[in-house]
Amino acid sequence: MFIAPRVADKSDWITTDTGDWEIIIGLEVHAQVASKAKLFSSAATKYGAEPNTQVSLVDAAMPGMLPVLNEYCVEQAVRTGMGLQAQINAFSRFDRKNYFYPDLPQGYQISQLYHPIVGEGEMVVELDDGDSIIVGIERLHLEQDAGKSIHDLDPGATYVDLNRCGVALMEIVSKPDMRSAREAAAYVRKLRSLVRYLGTCDGDMEKGNLRADVNVSVRRPGGELGTRCEIKNLNSMRFIQQAIEYEARRQIQILEDGGEIDQETRLYNTETNETRTMRSKEDAHDYRYFPDPDLLPVKLSKEWLDTIAADLPELPDAKKARYVKDFGLSEYDASVLVSDREKAAYYEEVAKGNDKKLAANWLLNEVFGKLNKENVDINDCPVSAAANCAIVSMISKDVISGKIAKQVFEICWTEGGDPEAIVEERGLRQVTDTGAIEAMIDEIIAANPDQAAKVKDKPKTLGWFVGQVMQASQGKANPQAVNKILRAKLLD
Ligand code: MN
Repeated sequence: MFIAPRVADKSDWITTDTGDWEIIIGLEVHAQVASKAKLFSSAATKYGAEPNTQVSLVDAAMPGMLPVLNEYCVEQAVRTGMGLQAQINAFSRFDRKNYFYPDLPQGYQISQLYHPIVGEGEMVVELDDGDSIIVGIERLHLEQDAGKSIHDLDPGATYVDLNRCGVALMEIVSKPDMRSAREAAAYVRKLRSLVRYLGTCDGDMEKGNLRADVNVSVRRPGGELGTRCEIKNLNSMRFIQQAIEYEARRQIQILEDGGEIDQETRLYNTETNETRTMRSKEDAHDYRYFPDPDLLPVKLSKEWLDTIAADLPELPDAKKARYVKDFGLSEYDASVLVSDREKAAYYEEVAKGNDKKLAANWLLNEVFGKLNKENVDINDCPVSAAANCAIVSMISKDVISGKIAKQVFEICWTEGGDPEAIVEERGLRQVTDTGAIEAMIDEIIAANPDQAAKVKDKPKTLGWFVGQVMQASQGKANPQAVNKILRAKLLD
C-alpha cells in the first residue's frame, strides 16, 4: 500500500519569528484486549480487583511455568487488523524483549518484534472541521502488559500489584502521517471508536485500557525529517494534544537557538503541562530480542480467517456511507452519528419507521444538545430511544409541532413517562381543525384593526399575527394552517 506524502494545511504549522515549522507525529497505541483471561494464562483480568488476587504462577514467573497462548486474544487482534484494513499475517511469532522492571517478574516482556500478527493497513480519520485524512498503519502486534508499581501508599516503600501483569495488549503503530495535535487526537478518537465497534477493546482511557505513546519531531516544510522524541503513556485526548503542542514548541526553541534534538523518551507532567527526559532513546538491540523458545509460532488457517471476516460487524465507515446513501443524511451528520456504536444504535432505533432525516435532526439538535448541556452520556439518557422515536413520529404526523415536541422531551427528561400519553393527558395535541384556528384568527384581527390594515403594505408584519395566534393556542395551533389562513385573510 502506498500513501502519498501529504502537505499539511498551513494552519497547522507553528509559525515563529524565524519562519514556519511543520510537526510530524506518529503514534503507538496500547489497547488492552477485552478478554476475561490473560494472554498466556487463565488468570482473570477484571479491573479494580484486590491487589495480587489475579496472578497465576505463570504471571508471577515461577520457575518452570510455561505460557499457553489464549486463542480468544489472537482472534481479537485479527479482528482489529481486519477493521484497520490491514494485512493479516498467517505466520507470526513471539519474541522476548528483555528488561528489568519490579512489576515484571519474568525479566522480559513477551512481544512480537520480527513477525507481528498484523502488518500494514490504513484508516480514514475525520477531523472536527469535516475534512478527513488517511493515516497509515505500520503494524499491530500482541504483547503482555506489566504490573503496577504503586509509589504513593507509603513514604518509604513501593508496592507492586501484579494483577495487570500478563494482560493482553494490542500495540497499534501508525506511520508518521499526522501533522498537528488535533489530527493526532482525531486519529486516537477514530481508533477508539473502531475497537469499540469491534468489541476488541473497551477503549476506556481513564482506566488506562487505551493509552498512547506519541512520537514528535519538527522540520521545515518539505525538509528532511528531524530527530524525534517519544512521549510515553498519555491516557486522555487532552493530554495527547497538550503534550504534542508542548513538545513541538520545545524542539523548535532548541533548533532556533542553534541546538540539536537528542533522541529520547520523555514523560508528560499533567500538572505543569511540560515534558521531561525519562531516558535517552534505546534501540531494539538494547533489549536483546530473541524468539521465545516456550511458544510455537502462530499459524492461522485461511478457513479460520474467513470465518472471522464473515462475522465482523458493520464498521463506522460502512455505516456512515449507508446513512448518506440510503438515508440521505449529510456526510457531517452521518459521521457524528456513527462516531460511536451506542450513538449509532440509538439513532437507528429513533429512526425506525420514521423519516430518517427528521430523526437525525431531532437527535443531533435536541437530544445530543441536551446531553452535552447536562454532561450526560448517551447510555444514561433518561429519555429512551423508543420515547424519542414516538416523539419524532408525532412530529411527522402533525400530532404535535416541533415546539411542543421540545416541551414533551423536557417532560420525559425530568418526569419520565410515555410521550404519547403525555400529549393526550396534557392536551398538547396540535390544533389542525381549521375552523377552530380561523375563529381564533378572526378574534385577533377584530381586536387589532390597525395592525391588520398595515399588513398589506408591510407583509413582514404578518409574523406578529402568527405569534399572537400561537400564543392564544398555547403553541398548539398548526403553524402551516395558521400561516395559510392569515395570508388568505390579510394579504390576498
Ligand atoms: Mn509496547
